[in-house]
Amino acid sequence: MTAVSSTDHIRTRAEDALARCGVELTAVKGDSLSARTPITGQELFGLRAGTPADVDRAVEAAHAAFLVWRTVPAPVRGALVKRFGELLTEHKESLADLVTVEAGKIRSEALGEVQEMIDICDFAVGLSRQLYGRTMPSERPGHRLMETWHPLGVVGVISAFNFPVAVWAWNTAVALVCGDTVVWKPSELTPLTALACTALLDRAIADTGAPAGLSQVVLGTADSGTRLVDSPLVPLVSATGSTRMGRAVGPRVAARFGRTILELGGNNAAVLTPSADLDLAVNAVVFAAAGTAGQRCTTLRRLIVHADVADAVVERLVAAYQRLPIGDPFPETTLVGPLVNAEAQARMRESLDRAVEEGGILCTGGERQLTEEAPDAGYVRPAIVRMPAQTAVVREETFAPILYVLTYRDLDEAIRLNNEVPQGLSAGIFTGDQGEAERFMAADGADCGIVNVNIGTSGAEIGGAFGGEKETGGGRESGSDAWRSYMRRATNTVNYSGRVALAQGVDFSQ
Ligand code: NAD
Repeated sequence: MTAVSSTDHIRTRAEDALARCGVELTAVKGDSLSARTPITGQELFGLRAGTPADVDRAVEAAHAAFLVWRTVPAPVRGALVKRFGELLTEHKESLADLVTVEAGKIRSEALGEVQEMIDICDFAVGLSRQLYGRTMPSERPGHRLMETWHPLGVVGVISAFNFPVAVWAWNTAVALVCGDTVVWKPSELTPLTALACTALLDRAIADTGAPAGLSQVVLGTADSGTRLVDSPLVPLVSATGSTRMGRAVGPRVAARFGRTILELGGNNAAVLTPSADLDLAVNAVVFAAAGTAGQRCTTLRRLIVHADVADAVVERLVAAYQRLPIGDPFPETTLVGPLVNAEAQARMRESLDRAVEEGGILCTGGERQLTEEAPDAGYVRPAIVRMPAQTAVVREETFAPILYVLTYRDLDEAIRLNNEVPQGLSAGIFTGDQGEAERFMAADGADCGIVNVNIGTSGAEIGGAFGGEKETGGGRESGSDAWRSYMRRATNTVNYSGRVALAQGVDFSQ
């Protein structure tokens, strides 16, 4: 276990990182929002939360910028994102510091999150020359049929605490090359990272002569989010967070015929078959289940292991869990940082108690850690619970490092267990049998948006579309063709024949 930095030390580190990124802290200080660190659980600064009028002003400014930005050629828009990517590379360490300070991520994961921002900028720059529409053969002579993709408008981005910067960047880099502008309502738990990112993007905007107002940030709680969600000047709301949040946001946007990209809760499983490479599987499972202190939407929460290897696998996992270094996320030796706050730790305790009531056997973990050094923080030892069946608590997402272990006898049963939860984000299978792998990825296999073979459920790359099915919300963002959600499609028919010809052979000649 590693010692914990003092709140004063963390505050100074945050101030320095913010200054390097160009944030003027005095301009945003106030008493309506508390910037805290999960490392000690204490307050760093008081900030000023946005009012509803601030949200309206931000949307109006972003809309005014959109009216200009949509006419800028897409490859020129790409130049802004290229410059932003350069600034992110230059400030990678500072941004990673802030991610660790606010989200409690260990060093390599914080750096990895910033790398993801840089990667999506690279992707978006290339995309700026590839916003392809199709040309289809027209059924009429002398006609051309094609589609054109146009900018959509202001994109409202609502983000969660656990990926405080990457998710915004996935949305923003793609939205900007698509010709949209962005208003961001970050998690109330991670305002500092949002200020730093916005300052860097503002600098890229100034450096490239792009219209000011393209990128707006409004700090605050769900109330600021609701104001953004209800704005008629926001045609697309991309919201990442709990399924509870999605249930509130989705219908509100639908009621005004807006579009949503919903990236909500997961309850991800991996199937571990007898033919799997056990060293590889155990290694991958430990990262997927205990990494990020169990606070990824793609965290592995259910391990569905074949009965013949279950005892051996659990024994190896328990040994690995007991060796995990837990503590201050800054030292490079730490592998498990804190939960985001003490409430998250209490929810983990509650779920463990329920699991035991529902017949589970706690194999390891669950104890609160560092209670003397950091009494206000939520450090815990990741837990493994063997469950007799997929009970109620197993079907819920508890945003903490609890791995429920279930056993199966045949692959159909394993797939049924994988799919028998309301969420549908990520799934994995560990197997040496190609047939099993293919079956798991097939139409009647895992029903999730991400399905991996010999890889855990977490740690996606930006090149693919990211998102999940069912209560995970159905949205897709990041790579592949996710950009289409950020644009509007026009189907164009051009008649160069010099005479009127109606489709489907309709005759209306007078
Ligand atoms: P949360 O739902 O508490 O908050 C997420 C964001 O939504 C915050 O900015 C919050 O202020 C805002 N919000 C909450 N209620 C709102 C409302 N009614 N209207 C408008 N905005 C509202 O989530 P969290 O605790 O920050 O993050 C953890 C959750 O996010 C987990 O469930 C996790 O699985 C999920 N998550 C999903 C993905 C994904 O891509 N599927 C990625 C990261 C996190």
